[in-house]
Amino acid sequence: MKLCTTVQEMRQERAKLGTVGFVPTMGFLHEGHLSLVRRAREENEAVVVSLFVNPIQFGSPDDLANYPRAVERDIALLQKEGVACVFTPDAAEFYPDGFATQVDVGGVAQELEGPSRPGHFAGVATVLTKFFNIVQPQRAYFGQKDAQQCAVVQRFVQDLNIPVEITTLPTWREANGLAGSSRNSRLTEEERSRAPVLHQALCRARDLARGGERRRMVLEEAIRDVLVKAGLTEIDYVTVVNPETFQTEETVGETALALLAVKLGAVRLIDNMPLF
Ligand code: AMP
Repeated sequence: MKLCTTVQEMRQERAKLGTVGFVPTMGFLHEGHLSLVRRAREENEAVVVSLFVNPIQFGSPDDLANYPRAVERDIALLQKEGVACVFTPDAAEFYPDGFATQVDVGGVAQELEGPSRPGHFAGVATVLTKFFNIVQPQRAYFGQKDAQQCAVVQRFVQDLNIPVEITTLPTWREANGLAGSSRNSRLTEEERSRAPVLHQALCRARDLARGGERRRMVLEEAIRDVLVKAGLTEIDYVTVVNPETFQTEETVGETALALLAVKLGAVRLIDNMPLF
């Protein structure tokens, strides 16, 4: 397995590989990330994984500083998965003095996480555009865990004619339902024991929807109710949207997606679930 830290090294390595499946990550890998790597291996001659805590997608310097990191451990995990190349770019090379371009996505990027985290999706779209240009993968793999991010990526890849096929894979969850996230490592033991309630709240809405409930407000209220009863009151948003547009509709359709963002102590967690 090759380790590349500069853009030049990465370009040279890429030229030696056949079809490439690319898995962009911010590291501190868990089973969710590895599920993407395994699919990428099945479908491509070589897999490239990036480990990069992208500074321009963070709104708060504290959030960036506190983001968990374990590069050596991540590299060992990826070696076991048969990855061809790990790219750990240097932020100073990626964003040198004078860097002045950003990929600003409209539409789906303007909802939910958009206003909650100003600049976040522009940071994501910009770094991914750089990665796609450097790694030139045939396919790139993303997790449904970040459903809105997946929609944003699909949008700008299509809009900018970037020749990469985007695949979205299901959310990996712990046995208790908690969605795998690098940020889970920042929860205290007590918070971690309460965190599965996010999934339980989404399941409640799914059960209601499958039982025939179509009123968005009722479904959202049911989610909030489960959260609040469990003492999770720092709710950023709870919503049920059309997953094509990320807009709400008063009566939900057959493709409805429930999403939430909740703060548990110092950690902001997101999760989502298709209702049907
Ligand atoms: P991150 O390192 O959090 O930026 O995530 C890198 C990629 O892994 C993104 O495409 C995420 O959506 C995906 N991912 C994160 N958590 C999970 C999970 N629990 N299940 C599946 N994919 C995930």
